[in-house]
Amino acid sequence: MELEKLKESPSFFLWWKSHVKPYKWYSCTDCNYHFRCNDDLVKHQWIYHNKGTGEIYVCNLCNKQFKIKNNYTKHLFYCRT
Ligand SMILES: [Zn+2]
Ligand SMILES: [Zn+2]
Repeated sequence: MELEKLKESPSFFLWWKSHVKPYKWYSCTDCNYHFRCNDDLVKHQWIYHNKGTGEIYVCNLCNKQFKIKNNYTKHLFYCRT
């Protein structure tokens, strides 16, 4: 598991919080994941919990919707072929 992902896991976060210098964290009230900046939290809540507003990417060939730009870009490549 990548370190960045690991840092976001709830159990690791508890350990991290008690051993590492205080840091401003933003936590998701729905799944207890933690983020270092509010932007990441907002994006997370939009993608995983349908909360707030964010960008939606729509494929103009099949009208499929994507919240994650990466997935959308990948889809466009396959949808064309
Ligand atoms: Zn969450
Ligand atoms: Zn498509």
